[in-house]
Amino acid sequence: MKKFLLYLLVSYGVVANAQQKRPNILIIISDDHAFQTISAYGSKLTQTPAIDRIAKEGMLFNRAYVTNSICGPSRAVLLTGRYSHKNGFKDNVSGRFDSSQHTFIKDLTKSGYQTAWIGKWHLESAPQGFSYWKVLPGQGSYFNPDFIKMDNSRERINGYATTIIEDIAENWLDGRDTSKPFCLVIGHKATHRTWMPDIQDMRRFDTVNFPLPANFYDEYQGRRAAAVQDMTVDKTMIMGYDLKMFPSKEAADKDGNIRRMTPDQRAAFDAYYGPIKQDLDARNLTGKELVEWKYQRYMRDYLATAASLDSNIGRALEYLDRHKLTDNTLVIYLSDQGFYMGEHGWFDKRFMYEESFRTPMVMRFPGMIQAGRVDSSLVMNLDLAPTMLDLAGVKSTHKLQGESILPLLKQEGVKGRKNLYYHYYENGEHAVSPHFGISNGRYKLIRFYKRVESWELYDLHTDSSEMKNLYGRSGYEKITRKMKKELTKISKKFEDAEASEILKRPIGLKGF
Ligand code: CA
Repeated sequence: MKKFLLYLLVSYGVVANAQQKRPNILIIISDDHAFQTISAYGSKLTQTPAIDRIAKEGMLFNRAYVTNSICGPSRAVLLTGRYSHKNGFKDNVSGRFDSSQHTFIKDLTKSGYQTAWIGKWHLESAPQGFSYWKVLPGQGSYFNPDFIKMDNSRERINGYATTIIEDIAENWLDGRDTSKPFCLVIGHKATHRTWMPDIQDMRRFDTVNFPLPANFYDEYQGRRAAAVQDMTVDKTMIMGYDLKMFPSKEAADKDGNIRRMTPDQRAAFDAYYGPIKQDLDARNLTGKELVEWKYQRYMRDYLATAASLDSNIGRALEYLDRHKLTDNTLVIYLSDQGFYMGEHGWFDKRFMYEESFRTPMVMRFPGMIQAGRVDSSLVMNLDLAPTMLDLAGVKSTHKLQGESILPLLKQEGVKGRKNLYYHYYENGEHAVSPHFGISNGRYKLIRFYKRVESWELYDLHTDSSEMKNLYGRSGYEKITRKMKKELTKISKKFEDAEASEILKRPIGLKGF
C-alpha cells in the first residue's frame, strides 16, 4: 500500500512537473499597426524599442500576411486557424463571431492551460472557452474605456486604454494558478483610428516633419479598384473626428471619444489641440498644402498612439523578466493587419496590396528560437492557431486550414508557404471592392468583384509599391495563365466556393 501511495505521489509529481514545463504563450495583438512604423522593420519614422527587443532576442518575420485585412475577421482567423468563409466572420458590418465554434484556445483550456483574452476583442459575441476574459465593447475607447466582464456587466476604468489593458493583463497574471501554463492574449486598441495619444505622448512628434511617401499623389492609372476607394488623407480623413480640429468647443463636445474624458484629460486635450487649430485657421491652407498638413497631423497622432503601445509591450516583457517567466514563454507580437501611412495617398487597410496585406510579426522563445533571426518565409496569421497547439503538444480536435510553423521556429529546414491566398469581403465603408487573390511572394494576381470587376497582376520584384498593373500587358500572358491556374487550385484547396464560382465567370482579355 505504502509502495502504491509512493508510486501515486511520484507519478503525480511527474505529471505536475511536466505540466509546469509546458511553455507559456503570450500573444500581443495590436490594431492597424503598420510595419512601416516599426524600427525593427527598418523604419526611420520612430523608434519602437520593445518590439525591437522581441525581434532582437527572437525572430522577425519579414513576410507575414493576413487572410483578410480587417479587424474582426483577422481576430477570428487567429482564433480558429480557418479562413473567414469557414469561421463565418467575413466582414465588420454583418459579422458576428460564432463563439461556440472550435478555437485553439478551447483545446488549450481543455488540456490544462489557463487562458485569457484581455482588451480589444471586436468579435461582437462574448468570448467562449477562456479561463478568463475582460474585453472592450466593439472598437473600445482610448480614454476611460468601458470593459465587458465575464458576467456581462460593464465597468468603466479611468485612464488610457493601452496602459489599462496592460494593467489588467498583469493583474490576471498575478492571480493565476502558477502550477499551470498560461496562454494570454493582450488585445490592444492602439493604433486604430481615431489615433488619440495618451496625454504624456501628445507632443512627442511635434518637431518632426515626416517625408511624404513617393506615391502619395498616386493617380491610380490602370487600377480601377484603387481609383474608386474612399480612404485618402485628402478626401476621406475627417478634420474633426480624425484630426481633432473641431470648429468649436461645442462641436468637440458632441464627439463621443472626447465627451467621455475627465475634466483634467479634457483640459490637457484642449491645451494641446486648441493652439494647433488656431494656427491652422490663421494659415488658410488649401490644395496640396492642406493635404500635406493633414498628413503631418495624422503621422504625429498615429505615432504618438504607437509610442504608448510600444512602451506597454515593454512593460509586458519586464513583467516576464521580473517573474522569471521569460525563458519559458513564447512571446508573439503582431498586428491584426498592416496599414497605409500615406502610400497611394491612403490611410486604412483592406487591400491585398503589401502595406495592408502584410502584418508585422515578431516572436521570442529563448531555447527554441535563435536570437536575431530574420525570416523571409511566407507565413500567415492563419498559421498561428495550429502553431500554438503544436507548441503545447495538443492534438487539435478539429481540422484547421493553417499550418504549424513550429518547425520553422526550430529551424528544422522547412520553408513557409509556396502561395498566399487572400479574400476580402466587405463592400461598404471606404469603398474598397471585394477581392481575392494569390501571391507567391513575387507575382500577385488579384480578382476584384462586386464593386469593380477587374484583374490586377503585379511583379513585386520590379514594382514593390504596386503602381503598375501588368494584367493584360503583352509579355505577361504566360505568368498570368499560370497564376490563374494556381488561384483556381488554391481557392478549391481552401474550399472557398464563392471565389471558385467567380473564377468560372471569365472577364478580361483573350489569351490571359
Ligand atoms: Ca485592424
